[in-house]
Amino acid sequence: MNAILPKIKEYSQNTNETTIKIKVLIDTLYNNQRLEKSQYKYILDNITEDETEYLYQKAFEAKMKHYKNKVYLRGLVEISSYCSQGCKYCGINAFVKDATRYRLTKEEIIDCCEGGYILGYRTFVIQGGEDRFYSDELMIDIIKTLKSKFEDIRITLSLGERNYLSYLKLYNAGADRYLLRHETASKRLYEHLHHDFMSFEKRREALANLKKIGYQVGAGFMVGSPTQTNEDLVEDLLYLKDLDPHMVGIGPYLCHSDTELKGNDSGTLTETLIMVALVRLQNQKALLPSTTALGTLDKKGREKALHAGANVMMPNISPTKHREAYEIYQNKICTGDTSVQCRGCIELRIKSQKHQVDLGVGDYIDLQEGAIK
Ligand code: SAH
Repeated sequence: MNAILPKIKEYSQNTNETTIKIKVLIDTLYNNQRLEKSQYKYILDNITEDETEYLYQKAFEAKMKHYKNKVYLRGLVEISSYCSQGCKYCGINAFVKDATRYRLTKEEIIDCCEGGYILGYRTFVIQGGEDRFYSDELMIDIIKTLKSKFEDIRITLSLGERNYLSYLKLYNAGADRYLLRHETASKRLYEHLHHDFMSFEKRREALANLKKIGYQVGAGFMVGSPTQTNEDLVEDLLYLKDLDPHMVGIGPYLCHSDTELKGNDSGTLTETLIMVALVRLQNQKALLPSTTALGTLDKKGREKALHAGANVMMPNISPTKHREAYEIYQNKICTGDTSVQCRGCIELRIKSQKHQVDLGVGDYIDLQEGAIK
């Protein structure tokens, strides 16, 4: 069993003094957008359900201040389940023999985006395993084709680690954003979760390179991964404060039974929401997706995240026939739906929470037209 947020697991009540101390720390974080390492640790070690509502409420206020109740939509195209990497938690990593592998052609990717454009999406997230099939030349061709077909769009890539020159070429071809979760800011935990040929330093260097080139950059991490501790989560908060990314993807670890981490507990909804809220309070302008993994863990998980600071959703626009094969974790939601169905379902969910769908390109707030920087 993992040891994070112990008091959330065994419901216990805090003394008034502890509750007040936690709420003061939350207020300080709201006002100053940073806390000391020991203060974060205090919150994570002591928070109970008595204080979570207060935390979510402050995170919601911080979101409203910058983005109001708008939820930006991104059409997600999962282009390949081939992967050469060794992320032990992931159901399509190179060592999972029974994984179904597929890859989309350029034409299929363009078709997905065309369908997504008709549904109103203006950002396309092109995500996949690390598949060498997608050479720089092919990606440049795809990016340029999309950008010439549709003027008013943003392209987000999420294709894992590539070298500096590759990132630069794709940026120059027209890619606007790049999602590369750091996965964990703890070197010990990173090494526990990845095969030896992967490197903690290399992942961070890739993120630094993406920022340097000028992408809107998304980092992020999983909550509740095997052996993760509160110290590790504090490292994530400190790292994100320092990196100051434009986006932060936070989702629960979901155990996949075909991976070598089989048999472990998955992360929980509450733990994940707490981390989303803390990140919203310290990285106040960041775009925070309400992740599909949260929706998989809990039917209302994505709705709840909107009340803890999240402001982005990523409906799937991949071909329905391949969706099950992109099985990074099991029981993924929406695999049987068409893109049209996903569009309707997401909109209803957003509206049911008194939020508003925003079909603009949804840049980071300081990069939006007319923004005062
Ligand atoms: N190859 C790309 C995309 C990875 S999939 C890359 O390396 O960035 C996107 C994210 O899904 C990963 O960054 C990881 O944080 C998350 N993920 C993978 N397996 C998961 C699992 N079993 N449970 C929860 N999240 C998982």
